[in-house]
Amino acid sequence: MINKSDCIFCKIIDKEIPAKIVFENKDVCAFPDINPKAKVHILIVPKEHREGLFSLSERDVELVGKLMVSVAEVAKKFNLESFRVIINSGSGAGQSVFHLHLHLLSPEGFIV
Ligand code: 5GP
Ligand code: ZN
Repeated sequence: MINKSDCIFCKIIDKEIPAKIVFENKDVCAFPDINPKAKVHILIVPKEHREGLFSLSERDVELVGKLMVSVAEVAKKFNLESFRVIINSGSGAGQSVFHLHLHLLSPEGFIV
């Protein structure tokens, strides 16, 4: 259980830790992964802290929809036609940051 005040992504969202924010609106923030696994590797996160996919409930339906629409907006912004979206849920599946996030991975495009 990670406390919100110890959460690295909350600190990025609050601009307490530097990151190159490539997309932001009222609900969602996106920035490149510090350790990219593809030519373009962007993390898309809700501004409201949720630990992971496993912690979502009915009240989060709108939040999840907003995340998905943000994927499309980020892909459009960087002219990505082909990409994968991954969510690791739980440490056994490779989740290392316990603030819900989508990995947007693409073999094309670049971040300036
Ligand atoms: P997970 O393993 O939880 O699915 O993904 C967490 C991701 O966050 C990893 O790919 C890792 O490289 C990235 N990450 C961890 N700390 C930071 C950070 O301080 N800044 C950025 N931009 N990415 C981070
Ligand atoms: Zn957080």
